[in-house]
Amino acid sequence: MTTETRLAPGARIGIVGGGQLGRMLALAAARLGLSCHVYTDRQDDPAIEIAAAATVARYDDQEALARFAQAVDVITYEFENIPAQSAEFLDAIKPVRPSPAVLALTQDRLVEKNFVASLGIEVAPFAQVDDAGALARAVAQIGRPSILKTRRFGYDGKGQALIREGSDLAVAFRSLGGPPCILEGFVPFLSEVSVVAARGLDGDFVAWDVGLNTHEHHILATTTVPAGIDADLRARARDKAKRIAEALDYVGVLAVEMFLVSTPTGKRLLVNEIAPRVHNSGHWTLDGSVTSQFEQHVRAICGFPLGVARAHGPVEMINLIGDDILRWREFLGVPGACLHLYGKSEARPGRKMGHVTIMKNAEFGGAERDEDDLTR
Ligand code: AMP
Repeated sequence: MTTETRLAPGARIGIVGGGQLGRMLALAAARLGLSCHVYTDRQDDPAIEIAAAATVARYDDQEALARFAQAVDVITYEFENIPAQSAEFLDAIKPVRPSPAVLALTQDRLVEKNFVASLGIEVAPFAQVDDAGALARAVAQIGRPSILKTRRFGYDGKGQALIREGSDLAVAFRSLGGPPCILEGFVPFLSEVSVVAARGLDGDFVAWDVGLNTHEHHILATTTVPAGIDADLRARARDKAKRIAEALDYVGVLAVEMFLVSTPTGKRLLVNEIAPRVHNSGHWTLDGSVTSQFEQHVRAICGFPLGVARAHGPVEMINLIGDDILRWREFLGVPGACLHLYGKSEARPGRKMGHVTIMKNAEFGGAERDEDDLTR
């Protein structure tokens, strides 16, 4: 829906998806005098207890989707694996932001890579793989090591197979279940960084400083800002996010994940992935920035002016995964540590249960504090 709907406090936001991102969006919306209606297919999702209303139904239930759309003023989503047809169906009733076209593009790694490359932005070498024969041709072209990824429905390293010297290609292809795939050259990166940014209804663009991300078992473990890379690279990273947001006519918060690589001619950034939503690597902004990514997303999709994205100082975000949550009391005792728990009852391995933002400004002990016992 292309109408330029601008909302005011008192309006209701529909959020598709009920996870922690939806929960933190609903908290930010409440602070601006807005309320939220969450649509999820799971009864015990963490956003439900924060939202003013909830619909629990399948993501392709058109009757439930229509009732949900009628009950809200604008619709957004907090995870990207909802059916693109459902987003289009909703958008015919109330504006969906970011648009269903953005959702469809980012749901398919091949379409997304082609789009980013078409902007002249560097990505890892890649090739389309529809069957085992195409995989052999792609490996011959791109070489080893390389990574075979499903085009759709991959997250946190799921739906990926590393192709090394000696790897059996047929086995690798079968291990992913044989869906349409993409083969990517393995990037020997120095580090992984991300830009979290927002574009408003008027086309204004605001980006936070680049975050340095570390992963454990393919799941984000920490984000550190500043990222420890020079200003020129940081500006280039933000410029890539801006060009992507503009080309998508994007409305809302997005994250662009990048690999930092060293080449004989200097350091370069390769775009790995676009997330069309608030992102785990932007959680530090809740405590560490004038405007959080959640408030900014609410501002953008409601047609409000965007807020300032300045950091209060150096900060580190640590994810609490699975049993890490047992350390909640310890974190509450650390000066400058801000604890966020998502209200999930069961701490399964690999499940994101909460996060801690450690403010590193001098008044909290800054560099003098021994970080070793805080980071995992
Ligand atoms: P993705 O699902 O594409 O975000 O990949 C998950 C993680 O796998 C990334 O955060 C990287 O650590 C790693 N990875 C993905 N693609 C590549 C690549 N082309 N080269 C090296 N590592 C990669």
